[in-house]
Amino acid sequence: MIGDLRVSVTDRCNFRCRYCMPAEGMDWIPREEILSFEEIERLVRLLVDLGVTDVRLTGGEPLVRREFPTLVGRLAAIEGIEDLSLTTNGYFLAEQAAALVAAGIDRVNVSIDSLARARFFEITRRDALDRVLAGLDAIAAHPEVRPVKVNAVPMPGLDRADVLRFCDLARERGFQVRFIEFMPLDGDRAWRAEDVLTGAAVQALIEAVHPLRELPREPHATSRVFAFADGRGEIGFINPVSEPFCADCNRLRLTADGKLRTCLFSLHETDLRGPLRAGADDGELERIVREAVWRKELKHRIDEPGFRPPARTMSAIGG
Ligand code: SAM
Ligand code: SF4
Repeated sequence: MIGDLRVSVTDRCNFRCRYCMPAEGMDWIPREEILSFEEIERLVRLLVDLGVTDVRLTGGEPLVRREFPTLVGRLAAIEGIEDLSLTTNGYFLAEQAAALVAAGIDRVNVSIDSLARARFFEITRRDALDRVLAGLDAIAAHPEVRPVKVNAVPMPGLDRADVLRFCDLARERGFQVRFIEFMPLDGDRAWRAEDVLTGAAVQALIEAVHPLRELPREPHATSRVFAFADGRGEIGFINPVSEPFCADCNRLRLTADGKLRTCLFSLHETDLRGPLRAGADDGELERIVREAVWRKELKHRIDEPGFRPPARTMSAIGG
């Protein structure tokens, strides 16, 4: 069954992370094709009626969408959503944290790929580490938003000192820091299997200094989570390349222009915006969703010869 929905609210972003977007020359989805808040709310309600309980808002960068906390408030009011969360690059988080919490966000993940300023700049192409850390502090100041998670994509050149800084961040603040393997969804189409720093490699770097203790895996979890044997904070590994978790996947994605995707790597997507704007009733939309879910991929094929990445890259899918 489907329980988890990722909703991309925009394909636009103020960062240009190397593993996600090209430095220049992104073609944005035209504004009139982007779902309005009313349209997002209607589709989310419908998907919640079909079994979705966890909704994560993402993008592009969700906080660049105008009036974003208003959307959070509308979705927080939907009965049946047990967990409403957000993934952000953190740049606008300091100024929006209070409004997001007031609107009803339950959890926030902040993406930070390095805790060293120069490397952060090299990866994101923005000199913004301090601002992002201020955003992280601002959201962590709200005790009702827990756990706070930090997402990092380990890219070639990641050094031991940086990994250990992430451990210190987790231990000192009680955060869960998660390392996500680099997937072939980058705008530059430069992904190579040999550039993937596996979760196992990062784990070995950590365990040489901090022994870890694995925590029980939650159903449908994409990450393996570890506690430090001697203190607070957690480390997670999301290993879609080296250890695919497809068999257990219960996730759907709704793109900012209203396409339903049943896998990050789907080559096929289902248009919901067209029927919605043509006046389809809930029964008709439900039938379209059910058919798409029925065809959900059994697994991704990154590791197979002839693998073809989807035409959309990460920022246009909604990671
Ligand atoms: N802009 C927000 C952010 O960066 O958190 C939300 C959207 S971003 C696409 C969501 C997550 O996808 C981020 O944690 C980012 O690091 C991750 N991501 C983007 N491209 C990726 C890739 N090629 N492989 C693995 N993770 C990727
Ligand atoms: Fe923007 Fe997030 Fe992609 Fe980085 S990972 S370019 S912050 S959408």
